[in-house]
Order: sequence, then structure tokens, then C-alpha cells
Amino acid sequence: MQLNKRQILSFLSAGAATFVFGCGRDATAKARFAITYSDAEWKKRLSPAAYRILRQEDTERPYSSALNNEKRKGIYVCAGCNKRLFSSATKFESGTGWPSFYTPLAGGIGTKTDYKIGLPRTEVHCAQCGGHLGHVFDDGPKPTGKRYCMNGAAMTFVPG
Ligand SMILES: [Zn+2]
Repeated sequence: MQLNKRQILSFLSAGAATFVFGCGRDATAKARFAITYSDAEWKKRLSPAAYRILRQEDTERPYSSALNNEKRKGIYVCAGCNKRLFSSATKFESGTGWPSFYTPLAGGIGTKTDYKIGLPRTEVHCAQCGGHLGHVFDDGPKPTGKRYCMNGAAMTFVPG
């Protein structure tokens, strides 16, 4: 079946409507967070690596972050907004090449389901700015059995 011009136009505008609706939903999602900036502002505020992870849900190369080997006592905060996310007390060596924790600090993070690899995964983001941090899996150590697999570039370590 050949599409006439009108059908093509209505197909395109349906696509445009989906696009606008998508943006609208995105704006609503951003409004849920206490700290929000425009994409351009985030780009200015963050390092290129932190921007790609926090704002574009990228994943750093394993073993690329110095925080993977960080052994000191302290707190891991969001590289975007300084929200306290994880304590060194819950960090463990997962062998994955990404900083891993078995539980977050209370109120530090939020989660949602993503299908980026075709299978459902639980995405982890900062509760205050919505910045993407990593994912959580069910193969972690006791006492929680959770493995919060984080991007080091999305966090800043504060010793002490
Ligand atoms: Zn944040």
C-alpha cells in the first residue's frame, strides 16, 4: 500500500506528538528532584566524564575510576550535587572494576527500571538531582545481598 501525502503528514505529526509527549514526561521527571539545572548548565558544571554518566546514563570503563580502589573511611557524595550517597563502611570489593556497595545511605538514592540492554535492570540515581549513578543487582554480599554497582566518576569521595 502506498501512503499518500496526507497519510505521511499525519504519520509525521503523530511522531512529533510522541516526541513532544516524551519531552513533557522527561520535564515532569526532572521536576521531581530538588536540584535541577538545564542540560547546558549541567554540562558547564560537570567534568565531561561526570556529565556523560550523570546526565546521559553512560557507563565508565571498568577499573577506570580511582574510587574503585579507594579504601579510606569516608562518604561518597554525588558529583553533581554533593548529596551523601554511600558510606565506606558498606563498600566491598566486587571484582567488577566498579566501586560497589551493599547498601546506600538513607535517602541518598532513587531507583527505576531500565531496559537499555534489553533486559530489565534496576537503575540507581541520586535522590536529590536525579543524576544517573549505576545499577543495583541481587548478587551482593550479606547483610543485604545487594550489589550497588556505581560509576566512580559520578561520585566524589570525602575522607573522614
Ligand atoms: Zn545528585
